[in-house]
Amino acid sequence: MLEISDLDVHYDSVHAVRSLSLSVGAGEIVALLGNNGAGKTTTLSAISGLVRPSGGKVLLEGEDITGRPAHKITSRGLVHCPEGRRIFSTLTVHDNLLLGGYLLRDQAELHKRTDRVYDLLPRLAERRAQQGGTLSGGEQQMLAIGRALVTGPRLLLLDEPSMGLAPLVVAQVMDLIADINAAGTAVLLVEQNATAALKIAHRGYVLDSGQSTLSGTADSLRSDPRVIEAYLGGA
Ligand code: ATP
Repeated sequence: MLEISDLDVHYDSVHAVRSLSLSVGAGEIVALLGNNGAGKTTTLSAISGLVRPSGGKVLLEGEDITGRPAHKITSRGLVHCPEGRRIFSTLTVHDNLLLGGYLLRDQAELHKRTDRVYDLLPRLAERRAQQGGTLSGGEQQMLAIGRALVTGPRLLLLDEPSMGLAPLVVAQVMDLIADINAAGTAVLLVEQNATAALKIAHRGYVLDSGQSTLSGTADSLRSDPRVIEAYLGGA
């Protein structure tokens, strides 16, 4: 589904991603873990066309999409749900969802997709006329993910969906991601909450200073002493 090889990203003199190679297979949830500033967001932005890599290749279903404009990449089924939710706080829940379908001309298909999101997230259905900014943090995160789903992703890039949420709500968001994946969407999941991410991921990579320092199955990462020490609170 997604193959990245030798990816480099520079911001002027900052070398944010260094020779990174990773893959996401069809049907997989792959976690990208690492501390603040490790290069996780930059990696997602380089994949989805928001920043231009200075080296390496990004292949989506075998096609080279390196450095293509973001809207072209989105129309190929790769949807990036950025950090911090970025919903439109003065628009209703329903209008926020409709914005996810901005590339879609077929109105009947758009309504089918919003209905599917409401089936998956009944809390949003109950609040469809409510302003986005008045939702709770967890509901806003669900709305951001719901809006990404309306775009019709085959591969979903999620940046820190657990950020700022209470543990119970984090678990609900992770369940939602697992459900989306079970319905056929591959997921690349950036998380600082390694415990939550490794519960639902199949595989993972650990980034440190822009480089992948460890990778493997979620089980192998969960039991790796280096991961336990650095990312699982030494538990
Ligand atoms: P966090 O978990 O804190 O979001 P991250 O792993 O997502 O961190 P990035 O946001 O990708 O890390 O940042 C990687 C490095 O690139 C950091 O040193 C950061 O300061 C730098 N960086 C990110 N965006 C820019 C930018 N627009 N201009 C200059 N430097 C940047």
